[in-house]
Amino acid sequence: AGVLYVVATPIGNLADWSTRAVETLRSVKQIYAEDTRHSASLMAHHAIGTPMRSLHEHNEEARVEELAKQLRNGDSLALISDAGTPLISDPGFKLVRALRSQGLRIVPIPGACALITALSAAGLPTDRFCFEGFLPAKAGNRRQRLQQLVDEPRTIVFYEAPHRIVETLNDAAQVLGAEREAVLARELTKTFETFLSGTLADIQAQVEADANQQKGEMVLMITGAPEKEQDDWQPEAERMLNVLMAELP
Ligand code: SAM
Repeated sequence: AGVLYVVATPIGNLADWSTRAVETLRSVKQIYAEDTRHSASLMAHHAIGTPMRSLHEHNEEARVEELAKQLRNGDSLALISDAGTPLISDPGFKLVRALRSQGLRIVPIPGACALITALSAAGLPTDRFCFEGFLPAKAGNRRQRLQQLVDEPRTIVFYEAPHRIVETLNDAAQVLGAEREAVLARELTKTFETFLSGTLADIQAQVEADANQQKGEMVLMITGAPEKEQDDWQPEAERMLNVLMAELP
């Protein structure tokens, strides 16, 4: 059977293609892309002439059997998204799960991913982090999601759309606290790449004061809540101490 290669593409800088990604896309029978028109220019850049078909959130499930059939026929295929790593806030999860359950082989070709790129240069703790994708668009739901993250000790990573960044910073400052350290990474690997860092209040002020900071693609990273372990441990320690004291002559 053929192999489905899940291929990462650049998140801005066209030089970030890996040699293996380009070779794989050239060698497969067909490329499934989120938006074939968008990807056509990327392919042209590297003289990749492989035929392309669409695979997006609205036809992903309907495409499963078509891909399975080709793979069983011995044809290898590739899945790409508009930018970065497929399945990461992008289509492909249902497809990969379905094909894997049929025993077909899925091989990742790693490359750029905005959240990892952002974390790698932000200077926030990276030993543990959680990725929250996009916050809900509706204000009430967004605040509720943030509320659920109040005690999250790991660094929290969000993707955000430029037209919502002001509102999101505002809500994050109110719900998580204006003094939380954060970094807003914008336009990674592109000409206007910017990292804004400081407290949520600092970042909010900088973004509100400069309309340019409200444009482009962005990743918001917020430090986790201070660990509460100490507090959880204290009552138990006190209880034990009292038990021991009572036993002393
Ligand atoms: N699959 C992609 C990945 O691997 O990162 C993410 C796709 S998601 C639909 C698009 C979001 O990723 C953007 O709204 C933005 O939050 C983030 N993003 C993508 N490219 C970026 C870049 N060059 N700089 C900053 N954020 C980026």
